[in-house]
Amino acid sequence: MNIERIVIVGSGPAGLTAAVYAARANLRPLMLAGGLYGGQLMLTTDVENYPGFPDGIMGPDLMVKFREQAERFGTRILDVDATAVDFSATPLLVRTSDEAFAARAVIVATGASARWLGIPGEELLRGRGVSSCATCDGAFFKDRHIVVAGGGDSAMEEALFLTRFARRVTVVHRRDALRASKIMAERAQAHPKIDFIWNTIIEAVLGEEKVTGLRLRNVLDKSLYDFDCDALFVAIGHSPNTSIFRGQLALDDAGYILSPDGTSTSVEGVFVAGDVYDHRYRQAITAAGSGCKAAMDAEKYLEALEFAPPLVNVQRIR
Ligand code: NAP
Repeated sequence: MNIERIVIVGSGPAGLTAAVYAARANLRPLMLAGGLYGGQLMLTTDVENYPGFPDGIMGPDLMVKFREQAERFGTRILDVDATAVDFSATPLLVRTSDEAFAARAVIVATGASARWLGIPGEELLRGRGVSSCATCDGAFFKDRHIVVAGGGDSAMEEALFLTRFARRVTVVHRRDALRASKIMAERAQAHPKIDFIWNTIIEAVLGEEKVTGLRLRNVLDKSLYDFDCDALFVAIGHSPNTSIFRGQLALDDAGYILSPDGTSTSVEGVFVAGDVYDHRYRQAITAAGSGCKAAMDAEKYLEALEFAPPLVNVQRIR
């Protein structure tokens, strides 16, 4: 079996930056990009805080540039999902549904995915009024009333974006203060089409063929009431994409990969980058930075392997 020097799993800013660095170090990285490459930025609109783009850039356009840059230096990209890994021995193994790849080093950059509320009606009506992606589905709700769940930057971003289509956007938040950054919170709160329902949780999505409303509970007085609307956009944060690494790498209680130094993992030769371990910063720029660090450390690791004396069977002499 051919042994790759480095396999990168994941193709968001972390994975693609790791690929640029690994490719420029002549490691000919192989990337398993997933069925949908590009990570979370493929689901966003304007990225205003990625340095180098003073006028902002659309998330998907930025990821096209990342990919072109990685390919320019010789990264081989397969648009397939990694479905299993075996890190119990060397070479390390990464499997897809119909192939297995052996590697000396692996960089895990599988990121995180949107979380759902887990309430009745949510799954049933997904794609019929329930969504987690305003850029994907917002245009279906022209002149409608949309609810956004959450109080972080994602919720504010979704709410602001949805004002392009919706008649009215209502943000339902479980507390009385937003977690979002000041600038995003102020923008949303100043928008004439956006209103807020505070201290309220969504207990159910109502409707059979499509969303017709939500069952809301005020957490202070415990009152329960139905609220008419045409769509629910859930923007309550993310969970790490680590199901295939369970039992293979040390994870924390929330499922994020544990890294003592920001690049290494509990298995020698396996490195980590981006949101799959970093639940604190979670920015495109910090993910890209960590991809660079992971690739540089993987390169050093591979160099040390190459210069290590070959393993020999030592006969015990009595
Ligand atoms: P987040 O900051 O973790 O916020 C999640 C929000 O959802 C919080 O307000 C939280 O409420 C609420 N929430 C969580 N679980 C809930 C549940 N079960 N029911 C109801 N509400 C729930 O996540 P995020 O907004 O996705 O942002 C993640 C990171 O990406 C942040 O660092 C953010 O700055 C960044 N980001 C930046 C931009 C930008 O700059 N343009 C855009 C998007 C995201 P509590 O507040 O009560 O915990």
